[in-house]
Amino acid sequence: MIIEYHRPQSVDEALVLLARAEPVTLPLAGGSALNRPSPDPVAVVDLQALGLDGLERRGHLLALGATLTLERLLHADDLPPALLRAIRHEATYNLRQVASLAGTILAADGRSPFTTAMLALDAQMTLLPGEEQLALGDLLPLRGERMRGRLVTQVTIPANVRLSYAYVARTPADLPLVCAALAQWPSGRTRLALGGYASAPCLALDGPEASGVEAAASSAYAHAADEWASAEYRSQAAGVLARRCLQDLNLEGSG
Ligand SMILES: Cc1cc2nc3c(=O)[nH]c(=O)nc-3n(C[C@H](O)[C@H](O)[C@H](O)COP(=O)(O)OP(=O)(O)OC[C@H]3O[C@@H](n4cnc5c(N)ncnc54)[C@H](O)[C@@H]3O)c2cc1C
Repeated sequence: MIIEYHRPQSVDEALVLLARAEPVTLPLAGGSALNRPSPDPVAVVDLQALGLDGLERRGHLLALGATLTLERLLHADDLPPALLRAIRHEATYNLRQVASLAGTILAADGRSPFTTAMLALDAQMTLLPGEEQLALGDLLPLRGERMRGRLVTQVTIPANVRLSYAYVARTPADLPLVCAALAQWPSGRTRLALGGYASAPCLALDGPEASGVEAAASSAYAHAADEWASAEYRSQAAGVLARRCLQDLNLEGSG
C-alpha cells in the first residue's frame, strides 16, 4: 500500500528520501510492479523528473538510462535484434509503455527474457550513492532489502557483440519454461545465460570461446525442477536451445 508519494526534481533530493529509515521508501519507475496490492506500507519516490531516460552510444558501449521504458528501448538504434525479441517476449505493448529498464530487472524472476538477455550481454549497472559499478550478475542476488536506499541510474551494454535468443514456452506468447541468450564478443569471449527457472536467470558459461556451450547449458539446468517442468526436460531443452543459438550465430561445430 502506497502511503506517501514524492516527485523530487533532483537525484540528490531522491537519495535523501530513499535514505530514510521510516517509512520504507522505494524508487517508483513505471510502477507496474510497485502498484500491485500489498499489505506493507511504503513511501514512493517517483523517478520521472530526474532525467534518467537518456540513451547514448559511447564507442563500443551503449549507456541506457534506468527509467527508459521497454517500448523506448524497442525503438532505439544499435540494440541487437535478439535483444529486441527478448523485450517483445518480456511484456505486452501496454506494459512496455510503462515498465522501465531498471524496474524490469529489479522486479524480474527467473522467467524474464529481457533480464536473461541482459545477463548474457554482461550489463553493468551504475548505482548511487557512491557511483558504484556492479555487473548485473552481481546485482541480481542483492535485490530486495539489500537494494534499500540505492538508486540505479544507468545500465551499460556492449554495442559490438552478437546476440542470439531462443526459448521454449507453453504458447509462443507465454513466458519461457527455458530460454537461452548467447552473446559473443569480437575477441571470441562467449557468454551463455539461461532463464525460465527460479528467482533469477543464471549464467551458464563465460569463456574465451564457444566450446562447451551445449554441455554447460544442460549441466546448469540439471536440477531445475519445479511445478512447470522437470529437471530432465529443462536440462535437455537448455542444450537444444544453446545449439540453436550457436547455429544462429554461425558457430555450430564449436559447442
Ligand atoms: C498486467 C501486468 C502483468 C505483469 N506480468 C509480469 C510477469 O509476467 N512477470 C514479471 O516478472 N513481472 C510482471 N509484471 C510486473 C512488472 O510489470 C514488471 O516487472 C515491470 O517491468 C516492472 O517495471 P516498472 O518500471 O514498472 O517497475 P516499478 O514497479 O516502478 O519498480 C519495480 C521495483 O524496482 C525498483 N526500482 C525501479 N526502478 C529503480 C531504480 N532506477 N533504482 C532502484 N530501484 C528501482 C522499485 O523500487 C521496485 O521495487 C506485470 C505487471 C502488470 C501490471
